[in-house]
Amino acid sequence: EAEVTPCLSVVVPVYNEEAGLAALFARLYPALDQLGTTYEIIFIDDGSRDRSVSLLRAEFEKRPEVTRVIILASNAGQHMAIMAGFEHSRGAIVVTLDADLQNPPEEIGKLVEKVREGYDCVGSIRRQRQDTAFRRYASKAMNGLRERITRIKMTDQGCMLRAYSRSIVDAINSCQEVSTFIPALAYSFARRPTEIEVAHEERHAGESKYSLYALVRLNFDLMTSFSLLPLQFFSMVGISISVLSVAFVGFLFVRRLIYGPEAEGLFTLFGIALFLVGLTLFGLVLLGEYIGPIYHQV
Ligand code: UDP
Ligand code: MG
Repeated sequence: EAEVTPCLSVVVPVYNEEAGLAALFARLYPALDQLGTTYEIIFIDDGSRDRSVSLLRAEFEKRPEVTRVIILASNAGQHMAIMAGFEHSRGAIVVTLDADLQNPPEEIGKLVEKVREGYDCVGSIRRQRQDTAFRRYASKAMNGLRERITRIKMTDQGCMLRAYSRSIVDAINSCQEVSTFIPALAYSFARRPTEIEVAHEERHAGESKYSLYALVRLNFDLMTSFSLLPLQFFSMVGISISVLSVAFVGFLFVRRLIYGPEAEGLFTLFGIALFLVGLTLFGLVLLGEYIGPIYHQV
Protein backbone atom coordinates (compact mmCIF):
# COMPACT_ATOMS: atom_id res chain seq x y z
CA GLU A 1 0.00 0.00 0.00
CA ALA A 2 1.57 3.26 -1.14
CA GLU A 3 1.67 5.89 1.56
CA VAL A 4 0.39 9.31 0.67
CA THR A 5 2.43 12.19 2.04
CA PRO A 6 0.05 14.52 3.87
CA CYS A 7 0.04 18.27 3.15
CA LEU A 8 -0.33 19.24 6.78
CA SER A 9 1.29 17.86 9.95
CA VAL A 10 -0.12 18.89 13.31
CA VAL A 11 2.30 18.32 16.19
CA VAL A 12 0.83 18.00 19.70
CA PRO A 13 2.96 17.43 22.83
CA VAL A 14 1.10 15.54 25.57
CA TYR A 15 2.13 15.33 29.19
CA ASN A 16 -0.32 13.87 31.71
CA GLU A 17 -3.34 15.11 29.78
CA GLU A 18 -5.74 12.18 30.36
CA ALA A 19 -8.49 14.50 31.59
CA GLY A 20 -8.63 16.54 28.40
CA LEU A 21 -7.63 14.24 25.54
CA ALA A 22 -11.18 13.09 24.66
CA ALA A 23 -12.28 16.69 24.25
CA LEU A 24 -9.18 17.45 22.17
CA PHE A 25 -9.86 14.54 19.79
CA ALA A 26 -13.51 15.60 19.50
CA ARG A 27 -12.53 19.07 18.28
CA LEU A 28 -9.21 18.58 16.52
CA TYR A 29 -10.15 15.91 13.95
CA PRO A 30 -13.37 17.64 12.74
CA ALA A 31 -11.52 20.98 12.53
CA LEU A 32 -8.88 19.41 10.28
CA ASP A 33 -11.45 17.48 8.20
CA GLN A 34 -13.05 20.86 7.46
CA LEU A 35 -9.84 22.15 5.86
CA GLY A 36 -10.21 19.84 2.88
CA THR A 37 -6.52 18.96 2.85
CA THR A 38 -4.64 15.77 3.66
CA TYR A 39 -3.24 15.80 7.16
CA GLU A 40 -1.56 13.78 9.90
CA ILE A 41 -1.68 14.45 13.62
CA ILE A 42 1.49 13.56 15.51
CA PHE A 43 0.98 13.18 19.24
CA ILE A 44 4.15 13.01 21.31
CA ASP A 45 3.70 11.53 24.74
CA ASP A 46 6.30 13.27 26.86
CA GLY A 47 6.73 10.57 29.51
CA SER A 48 3.19 10.78 30.95
CA ARG A 49 2.51 8.77 34.08
CA ASP A 50 -1.27 8.80 33.71
CA ARG A 51 -3.51 7.10 31.10
CA SER A 52 -2.47 9.45 28.26
CA VAL A 53 -0.53 6.74 26.39
CA SER A 54 -3.40 4.26 26.35
CA LEU A 55 -5.83 7.00 25.25
CA LEU A 56 -3.47 7.94 22.40
CA ARG A 57 -3.07 4.29 21.45
CA ALA A 58 -6.85 3.83 21.29
CA GLU A 59 -7.19 6.92 19.12
CA PHE A 60 -4.46 5.64 16.81
CA GLU A 61 -6.33 2.35 16.38
CA LYS A 62 -9.50 4.29 15.57
CA ARG A 63 -7.91 6.53 12.91
CA PRO A 64 -4.58 4.95 11.94
CA GLU A 65 -4.34 6.70 8.57
CA VAL A 66 -4.22 10.21 10.04
CA THR A 67 -2.84 9.56 13.52
CA ARG A 68 0.74 8.97 14.61
CA VAL A 69 1.94 8.56 18.16
CA ILE A 70 5.47 8.96 19.45
CA ILE A 71 6.14 7.79 22.98
CA LEU A 72 9.14 9.28 24.73
CA ALA A 73 10.76 7.23 27.47
CA SER A 74 10.83 10.07 29.97
CA ASN A 75 9.75 13.66 30.43
CA ALA A 76 11.96 15.67 28.08
CA GLY A 77 9.94 18.89 28.16
CA GLN A 78 7.43 20.45 25.78
CA HIS A 79 9.99 21.84 23.32
CA MET A 80 12.03 18.64 23.04
CA ALA A 81 8.76 16.71 22.56
CA ILE A 82 7.92 19.04 19.67
CA MET A 83 11.42 18.43 18.23
CA ALA A 84 10.68 14.69 18.24
CA GLY A 85 7.40 15.39 16.46
CA PHE A 86 9.15 17.57 13.84
CA GLU A 87 11.61 14.79 13.08
CA HIS A 88 8.78 12.46 12.18
CA SER A 89 6.58 15.03 10.42
CA ARG A 90 6.08 14.80 6.66
CA GLY A 91 3.74 17.68 5.80
CA ALA A 92 4.72 20.65 3.66
CA ILE A 93 3.15 22.75 6.42
CA VAL A 94 3.69 21.95 10.10
CA VAL A 95 1.51 23.35 12.88
CA THR A 96 2.19 23.10 16.61
CA LEU A 97 -0.64 23.05 19.12
CA ASP A 98 -1.06 22.51 22.88
CA ALA A 99 -3.06 19.48 24.00
CA ASP A 100 -5.12 21.34 26.60
CA LEU A 101 -7.37 23.17 24.07
CA GLN A 102 -5.99 26.57 25.09
CA ASN A 103 -5.24 26.93 21.37
CA PRO A 104 -8.57 26.47 19.53
CA PRO A 105 -8.06 23.90 16.71
CA GLU A 106 -10.53 25.89 14.61
CA GLU A 107 -7.80 28.55 14.17
CA ILE A 108 -5.44 26.19 12.33
CA GLY A 109 -7.00 27.05 8.96
CA LYS A 110 -5.95 30.71 9.31
CA LEU A 111 -2.34 29.74 9.98
CA VAL A 112 -2.25 27.32 7.05
CA GLU A 113 -3.63 30.05 4.80
CA LYS A 114 -0.73 32.34 5.77
CA VAL A 115 1.89 29.71 4.93
CA ARG A 116 0.18 29.21 1.57
CA GLU A 117 0.52 32.97 0.99
CA GLY A 118 4.29 32.50 1.20
CA TYR A 119 5.15 33.20 4.85
CA ASP A 120 7.52 30.57 6.23
CA CYS A 121 7.00 31.21 9.93
CA VAL A 122 3.56 32.17 11.17
CA GLY A 123 3.48 33.30 14.78
CA SER A 124 0.40 34.13 16.74
CA ILE A 125 -0.79 36.57 19.34
CA ARG A 126 -3.34 35.48 21.90
CA ARG A 127 -6.27 37.87 21.59
CA GLN A 128 -7.46 37.63 25.19
CA ARG A 129 -5.10 35.44 27.08
CA GLN A 130 -6.91 33.17 29.52
CA ASP A 131 -4.26 32.56 32.16
CA THR A 132 -3.62 33.69 35.72
CA ALA A 133 -2.61 37.34 36.26
CA PHE A 134 0.79 36.17 37.54
CA ARG A 135 1.46 34.24 34.32
CA ARG A 136 0.34 37.17 32.16
CA TYR A 137 2.60 39.71 33.90
CA ALA A 138 5.59 37.38 34.16
CA SER A 139 5.27 36.52 30.46
CA LYS A 140 5.09 40.17 29.51
CA ALA A 141 8.30 40.86 31.44
CA MET A 142 10.15 37.91 29.89
CA ASN A 143 8.86 38.80 26.43
CA GLY A 144 10.23 42.33 26.89
CA LEU A 145 13.61 41.11 28.12
CA ARG A 146 13.95 38.66 25.22
CA GLU A 147 13.04 41.46 22.79
CA ARG A 148 15.94 43.54 24.19
CA ILE A 149 18.72 40.99 24.42
CA THR A 150 18.09 38.80 21.36
CA ARG A 151 17.48 39.58 17.72
CA ILE A 152 14.21 37.66 17.79
CA LYS A 153 11.11 39.78 17.25
CA MET A 154 7.88 38.24 18.50
CA THR A 155 4.86 39.94 20.00
CA ASP A 156 3.78 36.93 22.06
CA GLN A 157 6.51 34.33 22.48
CA GLY A 158 4.45 32.02 24.69
CA CYS A 159 1.69 31.17 22.24
CA MET A 160 2.48 27.75 20.78
CA LEU A 161 -0.23 27.74 18.11
CA ARG A 162 2.15 28.39 15.20
CA ALA A 163 2.76 27.23 11.65
CA TYR A 164 6.02 26.59 9.80
CA SER A 165 6.95 25.75 6.26
CA ARG A 166 8.82 22.53 5.49
CA SER A 167 12.12 24.38 5.01
CA ILE A 168 11.99 25.81 8.54
CA VAL A 169 11.19 22.42 10.07
CA ASP A 170 14.05 20.81 8.12
CA ALA A 171 16.41 23.50 9.39
CA ILE A 172 15.26 22.87 12.97
CA ASN A 173 15.69 19.12 12.48
CA SER A 174 19.30 19.63 11.47
CA CYS A 175 20.03 21.45 14.74
CA GLN A 176 20.23 18.67 17.33
CA GLU A 177 19.61 21.13 20.14
CA VAL A 178 19.36 19.72 23.65
CA SER A 179 17.43 22.56 25.20
CA THR A 180 15.63 25.11 23.14
CA PHE A 181 12.59 27.24 22.56
CA ILE A 182 10.88 26.25 19.33
CA PRO A 183 9.26 29.58 18.31
CA ALA A 184 12.59 31.41 18.74
CA LEU A 185 14.61 28.73 16.96
CA ALA A 186 12.14 28.73 14.07
CA TYR A 187 12.23 32.52 13.90
CA SER A 188 16.00 32.52 13.66
CA PHE A 189 15.69 30.54 10.39
CA ALA A 190 12.72 32.46 8.99
CA ARG A 191 13.10 34.55 5.85
CA ARG A 192 9.54 35.78 5.77
CA PRO A 193 7.92 35.68 9.21
CA THR A 194 4.50 37.07 10.05
CA GLU A 195 2.06 37.05 12.96
CA ILE A 196 -1.70 36.76 13.25
CA GLU A 197 -4.14 37.08 16.13
CA VAL A 198 -5.74 33.91 17.45
CA ALA A 199 -8.32 33.18 20.11
CA HIS A 200 -7.23 31.71 23.43
CA GLU A 201 -9.25 29.62 25.85
CA GLU A 202 -8.94 28.48 29.40
CA ARG A 203 -7.29 25.12 29.90
CA HIS A 204 -10.07 22.62 29.22
CA ALA A 205 -9.18 20.12 31.97
CA GLY A 206 -6.38 19.37 34.39
CA GLU A 207 -3.73 21.84 35.48
CA SER A 208 -0.76 23.58 33.90
CA LYS A 209 2.17 21.19 33.53
CA TYR A 210 4.66 23.95 34.24
CA SER A 211 5.86 24.42 37.80
CA LEU A 212 7.40 27.78 38.68
CA TYR A 213 10.80 26.09 38.51
CA ALA A 214 10.11 24.71 35.01
CA LEU A 215 9.02 28.16 33.84
CA VAL A 216 12.20 29.76 35.18
CA ARG A 217 14.30 27.05 33.50
CA LEU A 218 12.49 27.52 30.21
CA ASN A 219 13.13 31.26 30.23
CA PHE A 220 16.78 30.77 31.15
CA ASP A 221 17.11 28.44 28.16
CA LEU A 222 15.44 31.02 25.95
CA MET A 223 17.80 33.84 26.99
CA THR A 224 21.02 31.83 26.98
CA SER A 225 20.19 29.89 23.80
CA PHE A 226 19.64 32.98 21.72
CA SER A 227 21.91 35.63 23.19
CA LEU A 228 25.52 36.07 24.27
CA LEU A 229 24.64 39.34 25.99
CA PRO A 230 24.46 37.95 29.56
CA LEU A 231 27.98 36.49 29.16
CA GLN A 232 29.36 39.64 27.54
CA PHE A 233 27.78 41.85 30.17
CA PHE A 234 29.41 39.80 32.92
CA SER A 235 32.76 39.93 31.13
CA MET A 236 32.60 43.73 31.07
CA VAL A 237 31.71 43.91 34.77
CA GLY A 238 34.53 41.42 35.54
CA ILE A 239 37.12 43.40 33.59
CA SER A 240 36.13 46.71 35.21
CA ILE A 241 36.26 45.31 38.72
CA SER A 242 39.55 43.51 38.23
CA VAL A 243 41.20 46.63 36.77
CA LEU A 244 39.87 48.72 39.66
CA SER A 245 41.08 46.21 42.25
CA VAL A 246 44.58 46.08 40.78
CA ALA A 247 44.68 49.90 40.77
CA PHE A 248 43.59 49.92 44.41
CA VAL A 249 46.26 47.38 45.35
CA GLY A 250 48.83 49.69 43.68
CA PHE A 251 47.50 52.60 45.71
CA LEU A 252 47.77 50.63 48.98
CA PHE A 253 51.32 49.59 48.05
CA VAL A 254 52.40 53.19 47.47
CA ARG A 255 50.84 54.24 50.80
CA ARG A 256 52.72 51.42 52.47
CA LEU A 257 56.05 52.75 51.06
CA ILE A 258 55.29 56.33 52.12
CA TYR A 259 53.55 55.89 55.50
CA GLY A 260 54.78 52.44 56.53
CA PRO A 261 52.37 49.75 57.80
CA GLU A 262 48.87 51.06 58.62
CA ALA A 263 46.14 49.45 60.73
CA GLU A 264 48.59 46.77 61.83
CA GLY A 265 49.12 45.38 58.32
CA LEU A 266 45.40 45.02 57.69
CA PHE A 267 45.65 47.05 54.50
CA THR A 268 48.28 44.71 53.09
CA LEU A 269 45.98 41.80 53.79
CA PHE A 270 43.21 43.74 52.04
CA GLY A 271 45.49 44.35 49.13
CA ILE A 272 46.29 40.64 48.76
CA ALA A 273 42.60 39.65 49.02
CA LEU A 274 41.56 42.25 46.45
CA PHE A 275 44.30 41.19 44.11
CA LEU A 276 43.07 37.59 44.28
CA VAL A 277 39.48 38.68 43.66
CA GLY A 278 40.62 40.65 40.65
CA LEU A 279 42.57 37.66 39.37
CA THR A 280 39.58 35.34 39.76
CA LEU A 281 37.26 37.74 37.94
CA PHE A 282 39.77 38.14 35.17
CA GLY A 283 39.93 34.35 34.87
CA LEU A 284 36.15 34.27 34.49
CA VAL A 285 36.37 36.86 31.74
CA LEU A 286 38.93 34.72 29.94
CA LEU A 287 36.67 31.67 30.27
CA GLY A 288 33.82 33.72 28.79
CA GLU A 289 36.00 34.72 25.86
CA TYR A 290 36.71 31.07 25.12
CA ILE A 291 33.16 29.85 25.67
CA GLY A 292 31.52 32.55 23.50
CA PRO A 293 33.01 31.25 20.22
CA ILE A 294 32.15 27.64 21.19
CA TYR A 295 28.55 28.74 21.70
CA HIS A 296 28.55 30.36 18.28
CA GLN A 297 29.89 27.20 16.68
CA VAL A 298 27.24 25.03 18.33
N1 UDP B 1 3.86 19.60 27.96
C1 UDP B 1 4.80 18.61 27.61
N2 UDP B 1 5.85 18.37 28.46
C2 UDP B 1 6.04 19.09 29.61
C3 UDP B 1 5.12 20.12 29.93
C4 UDP B 1 4.05 20.36 29.07
O1 UDP B 1 4.67 17.96 26.59
O2 UDP B 1 7.01 18.82 30.33
C5 UDP B 1 2.73 19.86 27.04
C6 UDP B 1 1.38 19.86 27.70
O3 UDP B 1 0.81 18.58 27.75
C7 UDP B 1 0.60 20.81 26.78
C8 UDP B 1 1.65 21.80 26.35
O4 UDP B 1 2.91 21.17 26.53
O5 UDP B 1 0.12 20.13 25.63
C9 UDP B 1 1.58 23.10 27.13
O6 UDP B 1 1.62 22.82 28.52
P1 UDP B 1 0.68 23.56 29.57
O7 UDP B 1 -0.68 23.78 28.98
O8 UDP B 1 0.72 22.84 30.86
O9 UDP B 1 1.45 24.95 29.71
P2 UDP B 1 0.80 26.39 29.96
O10 UDP B 1 -0.38 26.53 29.03
O11 UDP B 1 0.41 26.43 31.38
O12 UDP B 1 1.92 27.32 29.62
MG1 MG C 1 -1.85 25.30 28.58
